[in-house]
Amino acid sequence: MSTETTPAPQSHEFQAEIKQLLDIVIHSLYTEKEIFVRELVSNASDALEKFRHLQLTEKDIHDAERKLEISLTTDDKAKTLVIEDAGLGMSAAELAKNLGTIAHSGSKAFLKSLSEGGQKNANLIGQFGVGFYSAFMVATKVEVFSRSWRADEAANVWTSDGAGRYTIEPAPAHTGRGTRIVITLKEECAEFSEEQRIKEILERYSAFVSFPIQLNGTHINTVQALWLRSKNEITDEDYSAFYKFQSHAYDEPRLRLHFSADAPLQINALLFVPQDNSEKFGMSRLEAAVSLYCRKVLIDAKPKDLLPEWLRFLKGVVDSEDLPLNISRETMQDRALIEKLNKVLTKRFLKFLTEEAKNRPEAYLEFYATFGIFLKEGAATDYTHKDELVKLLRYESSLTEAGKPTSLADYLSRATAEQKEIYYLVGPSRAAIENGPYLEGFKARNLEVLFCTEAVDEYVMNNVREFDGKKLVAADHADVKLADAPKPPAAEGDLSEDDTKSLADWLKTTLGDRVAEVKSSDRLVDSPALATNADKFLTPQMRRMMKAMNKDGAESPLKVNFEINPRHLVMQKLNATRASNPGRAVLVAEQLLDNALISAGLLEDPSAMVKRLNKLLEQG
Ligand code: ADP
Ligand code: MG
Repeated sequence: MSTETTPAPQSHEFQAEIKQLLDIVIHSLYTEKEIFVRELVSNASDALEKFRHLQLTEKDIHDAERKLEISLTTDDKAKTLVIEDAGLGMSAAELAKNLGTIAHSGSKAFLKSLSEGGQKNANLIGQFGVGFYSAFMVATKVEVFSRSWRADEAANVWTSDGAGRYTIEPAPAHTGRGTRIVITLKEECAEFSEEQRIKEILERYSAFVSFPIQLNGTHINTVQALWLRSKNEITDEDYSAFYKFQSHAYDEPRLRLHFSADAPLQINALLFVPQDNSEKFGMSRLEAAVSLYCRKVLIDAKPKDLLPEWLRFLKGVVDSEDLPLNISRETMQDRALIEKLNKVLTKRFLKFLTEEAKNRPEAYLEFYATFGIFLKEGAATDYTHKDELVKLLRYESSLTEAGKPTSLADYLSRATAEQKEIYYLVGPSRAAIENGPYLEGFKARNLEVLFCTEAVDEYVMNNVREFDGKKLVAADHADVKLADAPKPPAAEGDLSEDDTKSLADWLKTTLGDRVAEVKSSDRLVDSPALATNADKFLTPQMRRMMKAMNKDGAESPLKVNFEINPRHLVMQKLNATRASNPGRAVLVAEQLLDNALISAGLLEDPSAMVKRLNKLLEQG
């Protein structure tokens, strides 16, 4: 019988996702087991940063005098490794929440990629930090002794073998503020209880931690604030190591910008663009990740307003001596400071991209292929930086080779002085746009057309509206006028003006409400007809979007203008069939309209078309 003075430890089950994560972490053959040290040290460092912050405002603090440092202790006889910090610590409830449910963004992203790619993606683990749980790669048991900074909270110990359950029970009362993690190592992982091994790992991964680190009582040297040092004493390897440490990243940075300024604000900044755009892989929206420091002291790891939304892919740090340590987003004066910082940083980064585009065009295009979507978002939404951003956009066009996009400035350099507009076409792919009927007339007149093949492009074009005084115009809009149209040479069989007029009138009567207007076209060369949306605002892409979102207006009847090519054999034959076989002529007319609607991306229900087509085929 147990005595009632020692309550049985409370046993809890891990959240299902954590179990899944633990299972993979423990059972996959993970080559770089050593990263668990980095994860735990970085948690300790986070806890110390948070505490340093609390100190500014809170009074009732436990162990207020305790030194802000991290200490590691190895014991190769007992095969244990202990990592201790004097950070903010955790209460019993916080232990359960933080270590029993999934919070870590890296772990979340990892699980998501698993659920998408299945178990075969388990080797992806090397690309994600799985945070605290990585300790279970090497441990048979993990004990987390923790005491919250709050004076009225008692110390507790969280214990688990990673098999699905954990316990929380009171810890010895003398446990100091902060967290002590005791890792009992698996036999085959005993190397992590050797001082030399841990020393080497700390030097590799934790060189930038801004708190003193002790290993078995000896101070390990850390490198302080890379961003404050002069560029010429920093190697690429230093930068890369810093990026990985600071952004919890496992890739090499794609671009970096290290700069300082004195006016209008004193700034030292080190910004990185990662290799990949995780939003592209369907992962959650990126959050601000450039940290804000004042004289090496972290003020906010994820300040929301430091950079515009569209720069949310950037990593790195910004340090400004002009900031008050207890800056708050609420007070007007502090807000104004952040806004000022935002302006300087954004301008500087845009300048950097402009230089990259000019000096290293290949690398810029690679960057653009991955991150261009953010520049488009900026061009469409950030009025202040729109002009600079539009210059950075790149599109393929009717005059570029596939895969070789052009800038709007280059487009204009090829255009004649008379050209008052910049033309673009929206479509699912380069091939689809090239095969559509809209390009012909522009090609025949040597007018370049930009190819917009990304879903956001139409929105971007509609918002950007103009560049360098020239309007951006969709080449398939009903009211595009190609004024200087050189008439294609008349050929035998061309329908006369009268015949064309009478055919157009007949088509209008025959097609009825399906068309707003039927007219002879001057932009067609190789196609018999084309359809343009008569509704300027409700473009095909817009209609699809509204339909997808179930918005009003999506169901409003489609109104198109139907343009016919009097020089095309099909039209000439149709004109003759009107007299010889009126029934068939009607079917052909409707089919031609449907063909044009397909090219325009406007055919909504193909079932009637299929029936009609079969009828036409029967007639032979
Ligand atoms: P992340 O660090 O990305 O949040 P982790 O899995 O590494 O994810 O840690 C989960 C959570 O556990 C942390 O967010 C933090 O709240 C808590 N935690 C982990 N280690 C410590 C520590 N040494 N001191 C205080 N809290 C900690
Ligand atoms: Mg962590």
